[in-house]
Amino acid sequence: MRIILIGPPGAGKGTQSQRLLTHLGIPHLSTGEELRKACRAGSETYEKARPSMESGRLVPDPIILDLVNERLHQPDCANGVLFDGFPRTLGQAEALDRMLEKQGMPLDGAIEIRVDEELLIKRIAGRKRSDDLPEVLRQRLLAYREQTEPLLEYYAERGLLQTVDGSGTPDEVFARIKTALSTWADKA
Ligand code: AMP
Repeated sequence: MRIILIGPPGAGKGTQSQRLLTHLGIPHLSTGEELRKACRAGSETYEKARPSMESGRLVPDPIILDLVNERLHQPDCANGVLFDGFPRTLGQAEALDRMLEKQGMPLDGAIEIRVDEELLIKRIAGRKRSDDLPEVLRQRLLAYREQTEPLLEYYAERGLLQTVDGSGTPDEVFARIKTALSTWADKA
């Protein structure tokens, strides 16, 4: 299966991804995680991405698309991928469609984890990431609203979107995601 997880910072994408990976047995492609890995390795890619990440803005599409393209060509991605935090712009979504088409691997669908902003801010207050500082967080939420939310329509128009309620416990949210997935499982 090839599935996209979409949601604002604090929606629980990281937690739900971990559960989904175990459940589906497919590899994870988190562009945020790949960028942080590049940072730990002291790579040039991260140096180019750093100003955007530190300010809560999106990293330019070409940097992200290079990361994704490289990862998608690794053999473990042949049977499926869980995309987490990617795509985040319409340009990325269109580029992903082209990459998957070239590899003959269609997308099964996108799951939106929807959470209202008050709850997001409360949840994030409990985390300790450097990009969770109030000003950076405000920018991250803005980037989500302005650049990523239009993807919901993009996937809805193609009949590929399911929205799940992201409130409640991680178990409750995961149960909703599994229900959403079961409608695609037959096609996989
Ligand atoms: P995340 O861990 O997914 O929240 O990503 C952390 C930061 O990495 C984001 O605030 C962006 O600056 C950058 N980033 C991660 N994924 C993307 C993406 N698909 N497009 C642009 N920027 C990204």
